[in-house]
Amino acid sequence: MGQIILKDVTKSFGGVEVIKPLNLEIEDGEFVVFVGPSGCGKSTLLRLIAGLEDVTSGQILIDGQDATATPPARRKLAMVFQSYALYPHMTVAKNIAFPLRMAKMDRKTIDAKVRQAAATLNLTDYLHRRPGQLSGGQRQRVAIGRAIVREPAAFLFDEPLSNLDAALRVNMRLEISQLHNDLETTMIYVTHDQVEAMTMADKIVVLSAGQIEQVGSPLDLYRNPRNKFVAGFIGSPK
Ligand code: ADP
Ligand code: MG
Repeated sequence: MGQIILKDVTKSFGGVEVIKPLNLEIEDGEFVVFVGPSGCGKSTLLRLIAGLEDVTSGQILIDGQDATATPPARRKLAMVFQSYALYPHMTVAKNIAFPLRMAKMDRKTIDAKVRQAAATLNLTDYLHRRPGQLSGGQRQRVAIGRAIVREPAAFLFDEPLSNLDAALRVNMRLEISQLHNDLETTMIYVTHDQVEAMTMADKIVVLSAGQIEQVGSPLDLYRNPRNKFVAGFIGSPK
């Protein structure tokens, strides 16, 4: 589970088409990176997939089902926000448990799932702390933990590391890649950072002004950029 297909998807805000008819297939288990300059539509595309915005036209299929009319909570996709989206007054355990409590899951099941997520993310010793007592990287892991407990078909990350310092960013990049190896769940990761794209992706989607410039593996794009824009963005010598 975790195949996502976009068919002729467009999105307009006030008559301005910020996503042009766009087609894309994401396979189950793939790590896909959306990369492109600021304002090109990366966040909008992710929000359309998550259901936080409605498409203007076209279709989004999640595991073969038309998701266009499915509300965000029922899409089984987990959006990982930046770490500052944690609840400061709640413990780590309560922050991770939050979506499960919203879903009215029973206490025992919640505790078990929180413990398992904490173990996966090396947070077991921090469950009773509050976000303010954690490092930036630990807070980011709590945000990921809150997504993991929902057992989503796919994780959606929107520039999750942009407010971390450079050293921590490298660390978290490795942790997210490791998590992808462990969970084998589809991940869509938005960034404007070429290095993140090149090191993390199975497949890179290069966007410019609401359109796909090129889709391919990091090596494909590096060796055969379709145009100067892609070459410039990927840092290809061509
Ligand atoms: P990115 O994430 O690549 O920086 P966005 O998806 O945030 O780009 O934005 C793409 C374009 O859509 C930008 O021109 C932005 O101003 C516009 N946009 C995004 N969200 C809205 C909105 N809610 N209302 C109006 N315009 C929007
Ligand atoms: Mg954005």
